[in-house]
Amino acid sequence: MEFQRKPVWLKTKPTNEGEFPALKHLLRDQGLNTICSSGRCPNRNECWSLGTASFMILGEICTRSCRFCNVTHGRPLPPDSGEPVRLAETIRELGLKHAVITSVTRDDLADKGCGAWVDSITIIRKINPGVTLETLIPDFNGDPVLLDRIAALRPEIVSHNLETVERLTSVVRSGARYLTSLAVIRYLSGKGITTKSGIMLGLGESEKEIFRTMDDLVESGCQVFTMGQYLQPAKEKLPVQRYVLPEEFVHYRQEGLTRGFRFVESGPLVRSSYHAEKQLTPAGS
Ligand code: SF4
Repeated sequence: MEFQRKPVWLKTKPTNEGEFPALKHLLRDQGLNTICSSGRCPNRNECWSLGTASFMILGEICTRSCRFCNVTHGRPLPPDSGEPVRLAETIRELGLKHAVITSVTRDDLADKGCGAWVDSITIIRKINPGVTLETLIPDFNGDPVLLDRIAALRPEIVSHNLETVERLTSVVRSGARYLTSLAVIRYLSGKGITTKSGIMLGLGESEKEIFRTMDDLVESGCQVFTMGQYLQPAKEKLPVQRYVLPEEFVHYRQEGLTRGFRFVESGPLVRSSYHAEKQLTPAGS
């Protein structure tokens, strides 16, 4: 299937990472990855010009191969024990007050990478007192022992994305289950953690399915919800089924708030970490 022509509201200035030499060099020198680059995020210009980035730990090779995602799939390297310190020092150097951390999925590791998460959160806080964190975690196969290790550190927000509605999950995500992801949100919410999740629109979901997903998340205790347009990152990835109109995103935002989320970020270019720092405040603004 051919790439669909993008509507005008999705056109952004092409990202030239060379425009941000300080950040680019710092990341390269520290051997750090960002989901901004690996995921070819359309908001890189805006976020990087504000000095914010979403860091991706545990390498840049994922053990899963979701059909919407541009991260490389394969056999990852062993975890880099020096990464947490380098990440913490980079956050200090950038002067970040709020940082978003995510990771590839590490089904190859006995602890699914949880130990590296714990080290990263602990060391970031030690080197950056007062910093707030959003941890966008993998599903850890829904293992409560691993989720407890994250919950014990009480990140300000823990996110885990459903990515799509239940019917499309097996097509869109690899090795993931809708109900497992929902259970991750429910488990962490039950521990008093502020949880967040998001889906992409334009993959063939119906409005009824979107609302059902919202209701499932609210019922699971999820407080923060994001929705954005799915964009096909490469030819071999899933094609876009539909470009959702900007006014529909406005409508869905209102629906999400009515259905019980505390904060909803909804728009064609919204990505999981977009405006993440705003979601910390009780009113979300
Ligand atoms: S689990 Fe899926 S979405 Fe996450 S990095 Fe791996 S391939 Fe991408």
